[in-house]
Amino acid sequence: MTTLLSPVPFLDLASINELSREQFDVVWERVLKHGGYVGGPEVSEFEREFASYCGVSHCICVANGTDALELILTGLGIGTGDEVIVPANTFIATAEAVCAVGAHPRFVDVDPDTLLVDPAAAADAVNAATAAVIAVHLYGQMADVEQLSRIATRHGLALIEDAAQAHGARFRDTRAGAAGVAAGFSFYPGKNLGALGDGGAVVTDDGELARRIRSIANHGRAEADRYRHDYRGRNSRLDTLQAGILSAKLSLLDDTNSRRAEVMAAYREQLPERCVPVATHPLATPVYHLAVVQVPGRERVLQALDAAGIGWGIHYPIPCHRQPAFSVYAATSAPVTERAAEHIVSLPMSPSLRDDQVTRVCEVLRGAVQ
Ligand SMILES: *Cc1c(COP(=O)(O)O)cnc(C)c1O
Repeated sequence: MTTLLSPVPFLDLASINELSREQFDVVWERVLKHGGYVGGPEVSEFEREFASYCGVSHCICVANGTDALELILTGLGIGTGDEVIVPANTFIATAEAVCAVGAHPRFVDVDPDTLLVDPAAAADAVNAATAAVIAVHLYGQMADVEQLSRIATRHGLALIEDAAQAHGARFRDTRAGAAGVAAGFSFYPGKNLGALGDGGAVVTDDGELARRIRSIANHGRAEADRYRHDYRGRNSRLDTLQAGILSAKLSLLDDTNSRRAEVMAAYREQLPERCVPVATHPLATPVYHLAVVQVPGRERVLQALDAAGIGWGIHYPIPCHRQPAFSVYAATSAPVTERAAEHIVSLPMSPSLRDDQVTRVCEVLRGAVQ
């Protein structure tokens, strides 16, 4: 019988994007005709919409989420000799951005229930070289930005958000992107708000920082004179076409995030007892970018999922400080992150996932964990 059951994809991007096909057709037509393929009107339209969605006054579209973080650090003047506090449990890009500006990531451990940065560990890591702390809103849940903000204020640090997995998430009434000095978003296709290619944005309430970042991301150009270069900048821009696509998809974001929350609620009801989803902080409203559970005997579980044609991922099996590329930070102690890395599994999660598919995943898990 099992062989007759259809597979469950981890994430079916084509079916998600199919929902917006008619709006995309309007975007192609318009952009093809006006010819402003870089820096066209769709970019500033999306910047206005996304800033307003996050509850901040400025949005600067850039080429990807990693650039967004790097440009924030550069814009704040963080570089050689500085340390930046980064959770050990994150996607490698958070640490890459810190290294790219010449600063050192200082990896700190995470909370065992949420797997998000532990504010007490962050406070302990502060020293004379610390310039900033990056709150990574991993799996779609905002880190405790109230505690982190108090720590940042007390020590004169910049609180930066890595909101690449958290478009629309909230902590109390604050949207991801509005809690720190500035936030970096990614519009990589698989994120909650995804383009049809790479994309990213910086959002901030600081007008001066926004102006500097906008210039640096566009060859350091002066606002009033495109032939004058005020900074040694670079090229990190979002294509006009992608901005149009993102505006179309932003109008669906709250609905797709609600469907993700329903899927997560269905998982919580049907998961076997020994598959434990990461906890939600009482003040947080996550957007469930990923459905992460901790399981005993992960190898068996993965084999059972494979045998049943169910997609899975691990975010992340090797903590940053254990990566060959970051071996200079190998002395880092982050036991919670290291233990979790051996037990976490990301189950299929998408706004297009059906209830019967969630049930099927939970059945297979029940057979595998006992
Ligand atoms: C995706 C992601 C990034 C990087 O975004 P790109 O657009 O792929 O460069 C950074 N941080 C986290 C937590 C991410 O998930």
